[in-house]
Amino acid sequence: MIAEQAGAAHGERLLRHYIGGEFVASDITFNDVSPVDGSLVARVCEADEASVDRAVRAARAAQRAGWADSTPAQRAEWLHRIADGIEARFEDFVAAEVADTGRPFTQARTLDVARGVTNFRTFADLVRYAHGEYFETQTADGGSFINYVTRKPLGVVGIISPWNLPLLLLTWKVAPALAMGNCVVAKPSEETPGSATLLAEVIHAAGLPPGVFNLIHGHGSNAAGEFLTRHPQIDAVTFTGESRTGSAIMKNVADGVKDISFELGGKNAAVVFADADFDAAVEGVLKSSFTNAGQVCMCSERVYVERPIFERFVAALKTKTEALRVGSPEDPSATMGPLISHGHRDKVLSYFRLAVEEGATVVTGGDVPRFDDARDEGAFVLPTIWTGLPDTARVVTEEVFGPVCHIAPFDSEDEVVARVNDSAYGLAASVWTTHLARGHRVARRIETGIVWINAWYVRDLRTPFGGSKLSGIGREGGRHSLDFYSELTNVCVRVA
Ligand code: NAD
Repeated sequence: MIAEQAGAAHGERLLRHYIGGEFVASDITFNDVSPVDGSLVARVCEADEASVDRAVRAARAAQRAGWADSTPAQRAEWLHRIADGIEARFEDFVAAEVADTGRPFTQARTLDVARGVTNFRTFADLVRYAHGEYFETQTADGGSFINYVTRKPLGVVGIISPWNLPLLLLTWKVAPALAMGNCVVAKPSEETPGSATLLAEVIHAAGLPPGVFNLIHGHGSNAAGEFLTRHPQIDAVTFTGESRTGSAIMKNVADGVKDISFELGGKNAAVVFADADFDAAVEGVLKSSFTNAGQVCMCSERVYVERPIFERFVAALKTKTEALRVGSPEDPSATMGPLISHGHRDKVLSYFRLAVEEGATVVTGGDVPRFDDARDEGAFVLPTIWTGLPDTARVVTEEVFGPVCHIAPFDSEDEVVARVNDSAYGLAASVWTTHLARGHRVARRIETGIVWINAWYVRDLRTPFGGSKLSGIGREGGRHSLDFYSELTNVCVRVA
């Protein structure tokens, strides 16, 4: 853990926790640095166990003080007010997201911050229509009963989110949790504390009752994240991040038998059949491999292309990949930013070396770009394509979470389905074909939570999102979020 004593020096921004309706600092802080050039973005407070405890107790108190008894219509109103607040400070959120991640401004505007707003509005609308169940029941002795099922809040929900889509993934959990009447303690990634702090400011300005939303900053293992998930007074944990972290959290919540929802890693496949619309498939795989420098859990790092079009596909994807422009957010022509940190770049570069050791052909990339300016201090890598590896190679089986893909040929539908499914992960897949029945058939056989046919990353927030195997537990999205963030209670009434 990189932590240093005391707050920010004059002129430096200090990002504080938001606990019980107040912004509070801690003695220990850490640096939030730009992945573009290593410059200091802000100093960030590191929550100790006592601060986490205060946040959980504030949430519990707010829960009892009335939030749990508020009506769905009232909470929907609050959620829309928060969405209005984000919109009013839209460019501040964009700037915070760009400062922490180095991504292009366009992406922060059209994807990250826009989805932050939509997450609040969607769950504000969905909660108004959340409904229970009703059954009429007769017993053998002539008794007559009605059974109805109501939703109650879980209580206090611990939310732990990652750095790759900071505001989007945080609000994806905060919005439905609040909508269902829970109070929350949220811990964003230590790499991306900026937009979460702005969210706390917006929530504060909106006048949400103190303690309903609490934000703590800090690291994960043996730090704020772990203190939160171990806390005996939280009722549920919702987590997005690495599978290994999910496993650690699962052990920590086991004693308290807490409810969990996990959205974890992936090693997603794109399958391109020879009958696919060739240009659309190349464009689709370009996006699915390199969007956000490959740092989207749904990115495809394994690409399978039917043999008759294999060589042509590799050549076309190489051309398009080499036309991507790696650069800083200030460069309007840049289409790909840096990785999130030097630590993550070291990991991705270790996979670059491993691919070569494992015998890959490097079709393009495999190195870092040279700028001859301050950006050479940044965490940039080139988008990279490999071919020639067996499915058992580590770079074909392990999640790299960078702008990489390995392309392999295949000869039959059965073969490619088996190869796609031969993975420890099961998050998402995309299938490119113009053969209607084949598309549906393959989608049914692929063992992932999401399958796109002739598309990638189209998200309707009413649909379930999540993965199987190492990719997660449970589904969020639409009524699935409403189900996770509520406790269903069956009430049985004798009527005769
Ligand atoms: P990470 O697991 O390292 O960290 C995620 C969060 O967990 C951070 O806030 C971190 O501080 C916290 N954390 C770390 N150790 C902890 C512990 N022991 N106890 C409690 N909290 C702890 O993940 P990351 O590197 O931030 O994100 C990248 C990973 O997230 C990738 O594997 C990616 O596939 C995955 N991801 C999955 C989805 C999905 O929906 N399935 C979405 C985005 C990212």
